[in-house]
Amino acid sequence: MVKIVCPNCAADLDVASDAPIHTCDYCGTAIQVSVMFGDKGEGGMVAGGEPKDAYIIKDHYIIRCHYNQDQVKNLLVDWVKKIPGAPQDFEESANISELKLRFYPIWVGEYAATSDYVGIDDWPNFSHPAPDRPGWYEHVSYSPRQESGRVIREYQIPLMALPEQRLPSYLRDYAVTTTGKEYFDIKHVKKLSGEIIDSAMKMNEAKASMHQQVLDRQTREMHKEVKQIQSRTDDVQEKGVYYIHFPVYQIGFVYNGKPHDALIDGSSGRIVHVKVPISTEFKMKATVGGLASIGAGLALILLGLLIPGMPIVVAGVAIGACAIIVGMLVFSLILRKQVSEKQR
Ligand SMILES: [Zn+2]
Repeated sequence: MVKIVCPNCAADLDVASDAPIHTCDYCGTAIQVSVMFGDKGEGGMVAGGEPKDAYIIKDHYIIRCHYNQDQVKNLLVDWVKKIPGAPQDFEESANISELKLRFYPIWVGEYAATSDYVGIDDWPNFSHPAPDRPGWYEHVSYSPRQESGRVIREYQIPLMALPEQRLPSYLRDYAVTTTGKEYFDIKHVKKLSGEIIDSAMKMNEAKASMHQQVLDRQTREMHKEVKQIQSRTDDVQEKGVYYIHFPVYQIGFVYNGKPHDALIDGSSGRIVHVKVPISTEFKMKATVGGLASIGAGLALILLGLLIPGMPIVVAGVAIGACAIIVGMLVFSLILRKQVSEKQR
């Protein structure tokens, strides 16, 4: 741990020695700790003479959490009840062992990019006019030709501010909705007993990464026009870079002696992930039902094939196929272990 003084409220703060950014526990200011330490990220004197503003991330936002702990429990219980085979005594029997609200960090950069390029593309050459069809050719060959153009695009790049191993796996590809962002408010976090998690990357590193993503996307656009890019000039304007905290409830619960977990978006109430305990009774009944369907299906098809020329043949085969599909569906229902709500 290292000691720093909040450049906004002058509170004494203990900060992990490798944390490049820290949100002040008292006033909620996002402090660039690494910049305080001369961007070296290790212990040292607070650089003197620099304006305090250089240490502060001004565009610090929050996505508000719209559910308290009780509401989020109800969301989970109601949702689990709707899953086929989920135990109906879930509400009474599931023992919640952990229920934490965490505000995770994400960077969002907005950019306007203009790229001029020169490249090579294949152009068709037509030869041997078709004698019977005017305007048609019998041969076409391709030859390289130089082509130039301009790509103008605007981008909004989201970047999770934590390395994968520090993110719950189901958040790695989660599309966070940041349109409802408001200026960061530490009171909101404290009222819900939330925990703030700060970016593991410096602001400069985040900017460099998002800038590179803009260039990569521009490259993809150019490759739609030319096969090979020979030269390019890029003008990438940064319209804004935002440091945003978004709410996630992490829930651990024990059912039938087995641990399960769930992840819920605190802003929308969306179930990001939940591992549902499917009751043994349901599994057995479903297995028997599934096998019976498949068996009946096979029998019908066989019967249909053995008695040719009967009108029943077509119907038998069709019904048999349906029964097999139903059986398969039942099995896929049993086999799935975790579910999540579809995004949008
Ligand atoms: Zn402060």
